[in-house]
Amino acid sequence: MTDVAYIVSAELIAASSQLPSNKGRSSAVHTLIHAFGLSKRVKVIRPVRASYKDLAAYHTREYLDTVLAPQSSASHLHTEYGLDSDCPPFPALDAYVPLVAGAALTAAQALIDRVAPIAICWDGGRHHAQKSHAAGFCYVADCVLALIALKRAGGPKRRTRVMYVDLDLHFSDAVSQAFAASASSARTPQILTLSIHHAAPGFYPPSPLAALPDLASQALDPFTLSLPLHAGAGPDTLLRVWKLVERVREAFVPDYVVLQCGVDALAGDPCAVGNWDLQGLGEVLRGVIRWGVPVLMLGGGGYNTPNAARAWASLTSIALGDPLPLDAPIPDHANFPLYAPSFTLDVPRGTMQDQNTDAYLMEVEKCYEGVVSVIRERMAPAVGVAS
Ligand SMILES: [Zn+2]
Repeated sequence: MTDVAYIVSAELIAASSQLPSNKGRSSAVHTLIHAFGLSKRVKVIRPVRASYKDLAAYHTREYLDTVLAPQSSASHLHTEYGLDSDCPPFPALDAYVPLVAGAALTAAQALIDRVAPIAICWDGGRHHAQKSHAAGFCYVADCVLALIALKRAGGPKRRTRVMYVDLDLHFSDAVSQAFAASASSARTPQILTLSIHHAAPGFYPPSPLAALPDLASQALDPFTLSLPLHAGAGPDTLLRVWKLVERVREAFVPDYVVLQCGVDALAGDPCAVGNWDLQGLGEVLRGVIRWGVPVLMLGGGGYNTPNAARAWASLTSIALGDPLPLDAPIPDHANFPLYAPSFTLDVPRGTMQDQNTDAYLMEVEKCYEGVVSVIRERMAPAVGVAS
């Protein structure tokens, strides 16, 4: 059994369950994990609410003053801060922002303090939230704040390296953008971001960083990486490209890993673009754990609530080193009817055709071969100093 720090509180669930894009999801997730008996085996840690100063490590004061103001009476839209169609203000917003950021920061601190080698914050992973505006159902940049906290953990003498891997169906635009500027400087960057995601014209979010790296470009930033996939990506495609993530990790040698486990690429999600299954997703987590580096696991997208709960219960059990079998029956609990008609843990792949051809995946592999050698070149002096 592995020690796992698990960040949760009734307050966090209450606020998070009001997230307009995922109403009730937080409650369903934590309830299923409890029903499987997993919450007795993790180290439950209550999140400390992020202070204004904690939030201002990334967000602007104008944005914070808007989202931290009580919303109940004045729930008018603030288009200038992205608080409109995708991200409407909601009554719990002023509690949600410091609680979700605080949960991710509490998880990061648990790793820094060596409370456990794995920390889980399923309410975090809000990878589209920007410095001064909400976007894509995300109101708070908990991923960025956690990365900043881990990066600072080493102190002035030890330059800590953190690798952010994003499994969400959507590109991690805000997180990638937040660290892209520092990655392009001459100094070896401390943070590497890598997003495996779906890309197609018009697919959210539009970002110049969401393409396959261009090895011929002078502007190539080998520390801000994108691995775009076509529609219907199944578990075989995921596990094939995962080998490239392994190689990037070997070249970068991170001290911490932050894994955003958005599950909207799973089969059965209303986005209906990805076709991953729980088996493949579990293999990816097993791979990360084998790296032997402290891991912060965050949530993210996932719009089929029972499947998100299934996935995160399964990943929690893998983190504990005692995986639930995929055919495990859903335990009898208050939300049991949600899990019809299968009433089992598994999320199997669907019938969607995988449009990632062998030729395309070979192109991705060739590109990443080049990226990995550039990372090795850039890391060589840093690795020398560290050892
Ligand atoms: Zn997403």
